[in-house]
Amino acid sequence: MCEIANDYDYIKTSLNEILKVDDFTSNLFKVYESILKEGLAQKNIACINRSDYMIDSYLEDNKSSFRIRQVEINAIASSMSAHSQNTQLMHNYLMTKYRVPIDKSKGATIPKNDALNMVAQGLIDAYDKYGVLDSYILLVSEERSSNFSDFLYIELTVSKMRPDIRIVRIRFCDLHDVAQLGPNKELFIDKNKEIALVYFRYGYDPSNYNFGAAWSVRILLERSKAIKCPSINFHLSGAKKFQQLLNSSLDLEKFLSASDAKKLSQVFCKFWSIEASSPEGEKGFQIGLSNAKNLVLKPQREGGGHNIFGNDIAPFLNQQVSQEERSQYILMELINSPKEKNWLLLHDDNVSDDKSRLYNYDELVSELGIYGSVLSDGRLIERNRAAGYLVRSKKFGTNEGGVATGYAGISSLVLLDQSRDTDFSLYFTD
Ligand code: ADP
Ligand code: MG
Repeated sequence: MCEIANDYDYIKTSLNEILKVDDFTSNLFKVYESILKEGLAQKNIACINRSDYMIDSYLEDNKSSFRIRQVEINAIASSMSAHSQNTQLMHNYLMTKYRVPIDKSKGATIPKNDALNMVAQGLIDAYDKYGVLDSYILLVSEERSSNFSDFLYIELTVSKMRPDIRIVRIRFCDLHDVAQLGPNKELFIDKNKEIALVYFRYGYDPSNYNFGAAWSVRILLERSKAIKCPSINFHLSGAKKFQQLLNSSLDLEKFLSASDAKKLSQVFCKFWSIEASSPEGEKGFQIGLSNAKNLVLKPQREGGGHNIFGNDIAPFLNQQVSQEERSQYILMELINSPKEKNWLLLHDDNVSDDKSRLYNYDELVSELGIYGSVLSDGRLIERNRAAGYLVRSKKFGTNEGGVATGYAGISSLVLLDQSRDTDFSLYFTD
């Protein structure tokens, strides 16, 4: 992703058709071009990302087998590192307290989860790179901060690791009144707080820009000398279009050696473009119309709730997508997750009154996210950390994921040693 972020030509060619019809991506790209034209005040770029995966169950020699498949990579506002680290600590504690056996003889372990510490360390890496004493981190937050507890844990953890670093948390919609540039494009808040790092936890969805000054604020931040997490080019590199393009070894090998590309593509799903401007796109479109049972149609959006699944795809393509708009979408192979035996505790569950829950497990499917943080000088990667994970589990049959949206809960990971003839039926119902 860092290589993509640093490759203006590749971003431009890849997003070309999308830019014609998707105002949001097009606005982001215009910001990117305008800061390049003006001359970059800050060449270092940072990103805290999360790569999401699901287990795919498939048949091999008539035997059911499991493999891991990538769902997407989030390049902006990757959330929940605090809750997932805390959940793992809680699960570990409860397992000890109630002496819950996990099958150690089969090599099962609950790995330690460093997600929150890693996110904090990623921010500190970028802060230190800026190198100005007494500067601040600016956390750009949403209007109604449903993520405040995640933010506060990050603040707390940064401050524990580095008491000298201060974080100011300001809503995107309030920045217009308090942010300005200094003589050397330093970013100042309240005229006297110099910002070393802008950490975007907002600004990923078109609806985030529905107040008058939104784009001028984004441009102001991007023009500034502060390091951005993510920088605008990193933000663009998270476009789902790249997942479809990197499906081709030709594209993937632009950025990786053939052997690394081969390893990486083992976790990729199949993708199809459906854009009207190319023969491949036309082929993909026909597949979407006639054979979409095991496919997902994804628009160029972040944040859940926009995907179209299976048999809903053909009517949607027929009725709601014009020829030009087709370039905004990609088709993806459906990941066939096995059903796990587990319990999902939702906000309206009254567990203490319902003992039957103990004996009736839910059938869940899970998504695993692996956090990463990257710092680059715009050419080479200087820091590349991977640590910590998020497991989100939702009821089988629910298409959309998402904890904040109310569909999923946070869980922990159990690793099993496949070489020890593990009995997966202990964990899965099919
Ligand atoms: P975003 O989070 O940006 O909306 P995702 O690609 O993560 O987009 O899709 C949202 C949810 O839809 C995922 O969390 C997952 O539960 C489900 N999903 C996405 N792609 C697939 C797929 N190929 N197979 C099965 N489920 C999927
Ligand atoms: Mg997602």
